[in-house]
Amino acid sequence: MGSDIGVYGLGVMGKNLAFNLADHGFTVAVYNRSKEKTEALLEEKGALSIRGYTDVETFVTHLNPPRRIFMMVQAGRATDDVIQSLLPYLSSGDVLIDGGNAYFHDTERRAKELELRGIHFLGLGISGGETGARFGPSLMPGGSLRAYTSVAPMLEAIAAKYEDKPCVAYLGEGGAGHYVKMVHNGIEYADMQLIAEVYHLLKHSLNASSDSLASIFDDWNQGELSSYLIEITARILKVKDPESGEPLVDRILDRAQQKGTGKWTAQEALELGVPLSVITEAVYARALSAMKEDRLRAADILAPAVLVEGSPEPSFAEEPGPKTDWIETLRKALYAAKIIAYAQGFAQLKTAGEVYGWQLPLSDIASIWRAGCIIRARLLNDIMHVYADPAFQDHLLLTPLFAKRLKETIPHLRRAVRYGVEKGLSLPALAQALSYYDGLRSAYLPANLIQAQRDFFGAHTYERTDRPGSFHTDWETFHP
Ligand code: NAP
Repeated sequence: MGSDIGVYGLGVMGKNLAFNLADHGFTVAVYNRSKEKTEALLEEKGALSIRGYTDVETFVTHLNPPRRIFMMVQAGRATDDVIQSLLPYLSSGDVLIDGGNAYFHDTERRAKELELRGIHFLGLGISGGETGARFGPSLMPGGSLRAYTSVAPMLEAIAAKYEDKPCVAYLGEGGAGHYVKMVHNGIEYADMQLIAEVYHLLKHSLNASSDSLASIFDDWNQGELSSYLIEITARILKVKDPESGEPLVDRILDRAQQKGTGKWTAQEALELGVPLSVITEAVYARALSAMKEDRLRAADILAPAVLVEGSPEPSFAEEPGPKTDWIETLRKALYAAKIIAYAQGFAQLKTAGEVYGWQLPLSDIASIWRAGCIIRARLLNDIMHVYADPAFQDHLLLTPLFAKRLKETIPHLRRAVRYGVEKGLSLPALAQALSYYDGLRSAYLPANLIQAQRDFFGAHTYERTDRPGSFHTDWETFHP
């Protein structure tokens, strides 16, 4: 008897997915380039039905046909190398699944190349990190429908469940799954940045201890902001540094790193011409944070922002009434900005579906993000219901539900941003969310002047408000 499924690559994700598959009754064959990881996994597996192999040929040939193999390796060159190493042993009808964070254009290319050889390829976005992989991730499959059908029972078994419904749905041909995963990560960047900015505002305006900030986030997690990222923020704020006894978060250097999926999302938005300002600003904010040395120098040269470490603004701290109002303002500000960030992400998905020829099921996407993944949030339930109506696949902010919520919360976002502007507190993502909202609801924008300038220096022509057609003016002639 061969194994039901193979897992190639036993790093953090591969190992935990192998355990998850075995937990659900599948016989799993595993292989890793360096055999130490395979040996370590076999020692750890206990009674689980997992078989380890130390060469690719035996790993592949011991799988039941059609062979199904999860590749859980680094995106990029490593994935191509692994595919090349597997190909000599694969037959027509076999299924390859790339569970890495692949760039969707690479997935499109691989799908085409492999289909020519009769290999069905699935680009599978996976979210949930180590714990998700082990106990239930959110799964975003795209590519060959035959490949999906062949592994659907396995994916449904290992996926996270939201009210018993598995967080997995077929999303479309080619790179659709990895595209959706990319946008998921972009939204994750935005969500994290918005939370960080509100933490910044709370910390500086209230002069509050980390423990009291934690209880604010705990409270917020009980309501409409309920989400994994708010939950872990509260938990993080409670953790003390074992060496100093101070909140650990205060000992962490303010220099954020990134692996590139946020950048890809922003680049893609530029390609498509979709305004994705909150997510893009979150990527820039990490880049600015990484310029720690420059920021230290600039704080000397340009004078530090009004609110700096150790100079709290006490005005809200001392008056319980205004303080409670202010905390509620920041909660609503965060909620408004979060709605806008998610709406921008979904707007990008909608456009991408049209451009790349995918029928991206927006309601299903919101549905499978409700558990297992990093951006799981109560808000996704509402987004799922809105997009469940086939007659409405438009911009989320134009639905009665979200229009009403923004009407209630935008004044608070405006108040929060105004506070930051006045105090010199950098709040780029909150400010972008507000500006996008104001731009979207502007029946008039100053782009008429842009068009006039373009026509002035480049004869690029313009349209008129009073009649159709394309017009050019010899501006120099009219110059007074
Ligand atoms: P990891 O712990 O760093 O493990 C990487 C694995 O890839 C190792 O088994 C490594 O083998 C193998 N590998 C690298 N280059 C290879 C090559 N050229 N040929 C063969 N094997 C190679 O990575 P991970 O966190 O499990 O992530 C795996 C994939 O899942 C990545 O694409 C990642 O972006 C994606 N992902 C990660 C997360 C997460 O939270 N970690 C979440 C979702 C998706 P050796 O042991 O021999 O080096």
